[in-house]
Amino acid sequence: MKILIKNGHVIDPSQKIDNICDVLIEDGKIKEIRSKKSRVKSKDTNPLLKTFTKGGGGRIIDAKGLIVMPGLVDMHVHLREPGFEYKETIKTGTGAAIKGGFTSVCCMPNTNPINDNSSVTEFIIRKAIQEGSCSVYPIGAVTKGQKGEELSELTMMYETGCIAFSDDGRPVMNSMMMRRALEYSKIFNAPVISHCEDLTLSSEGVMNEGLLSVTLGLKGIPAQAEEIMVARDVALAELTNGRLHIAHVSTKGSVEIIRIAKKRGLTNITSETCPHYFSITEEAVRLYDTNAKVNPPLRRKEDVEAIKEGLADGTIDVIATDHAPHHMDEKLLEFDLTPSGISGLETAIGLSIKLVEEGVLTLSQLVGKMSFMPAKIAGIDKGTLKHGSDADVVIIDTKKEYKVEAARFISKGKNTPFNGWVLRGMPVMTIRKGRVYEWQ
Ligand SMILES: [Zn+2]
Repeated sequence: MKILIKNGHVIDPSQKIDNICDVLIEDGKIKEIRSKKSRVKSKDTNPLLKTFTKGGGGRIIDAKGLIVMPGLVDMHVHLREPGFEYKETIKTGTGAAIKGGFTSVCCMPNTNPINDNSSVTEFIIRKAIQEGSCSVYPIGAVTKGQKGEELSELTMMYETGCIAFSDDGRPVMNSMMMRRALEYSKIFNAPVISHCEDLTLSSEGVMNEGLLSVTLGLKGIPAQAEEIMVARDVALAELTNGRLHIAHVSTKGSVEIIRIAKKRGLTNITSETCPHYFSITEEAVRLYDTNAKVNPPLRRKEDVEAIKEGLADGTIDVIATDHAPHHMDEKLLEFDLTPSGISGLETAIGLSIKLVEEGVLTLSQLVGKMSFMPAKIAGIDKGTLKHGSDADVVIIDTKKEYKVEAARFISKGKNTPFNGWVLRGMPVMTIRKGRVYEWQ
């Protein structure tokens, strides 16, 4: 089966491509990319078209006026299966991913049972092959039961298919345990992804600590609860030379700590943020909107500005969603009791493209942070349109406006503070290993 995507603006940071090209897909793989320039050189009006018609059959997609990029890679999602199928399943979560333009996702281990051994890893991989729409790469728990007391069987899980390790949802509070994890994971060069939160300081907090939390009578979490752990983990990464990836950076102080670490030459440290940390502030919880309750919490305007600066100067390498679907009934609880999280897969690209409109990132930089970079950190052969790679492609209309309608999400999680927002940058087509999913 052949697919020819014609006249699209192809952006592939892995090959530094940023111009009008044709992309030929054959048998689920990228066969060739030909730019208009080389077309002129070869004095051939459309050589790819010729190759295409020669073989017969297939499909031609006219992508004129549209952006064609590698399928997006989300290195931080919660698929909830096994154990919390009422919130999300591998089927619905990967369906939401495809709708959002993601062809690969890395799923966090805080399921039930927790993915802290190779039988759970195997279950996820098998289920994803049977029912998943996109590629799924499991992340194993650092410690057994995510309790922070004993390391999981990292080697077995790695050999079964885990691409990274994290106790996400919780930090690894014990510094010796974190040191051991960073040392151990060096054997297979896998990153340890840190959910940076000092639990003794964040305590029972439910939102950012400051004037607003006092006004609302809600218990606050100071920025320092995150920053202390970022600083500790940077120190441990330096001690061990292990690979540290800092999840969901939300504060100005964290950005500064990571920036200094990188300036000092610590190339073993990478970091990510999520669309909600650069799109909205703590003001979103003013009306006790439980859909705006996340962990780490939404912060102040100056933090949002610092996150954008961190994205622009490369301190923050990746945009991940931290897709955290919950059942509607759970989000109907009062603010203190409702679980944290935003269903993020289906709004990520629209919110992130605003960074290009604002001049924070070029489109190519943005695509890199949502495809090539996360793939590189996770050590997976994705996020690229290079010859021979899986035909994972997303075609985006950056001009078409659409209204976010949570009720129509493919994800079971309708929990989003962006419901009703008008966004631009809609995936009109997602292709995964040559299979086409398209929307009006
Ligand atoms: Zn987390």
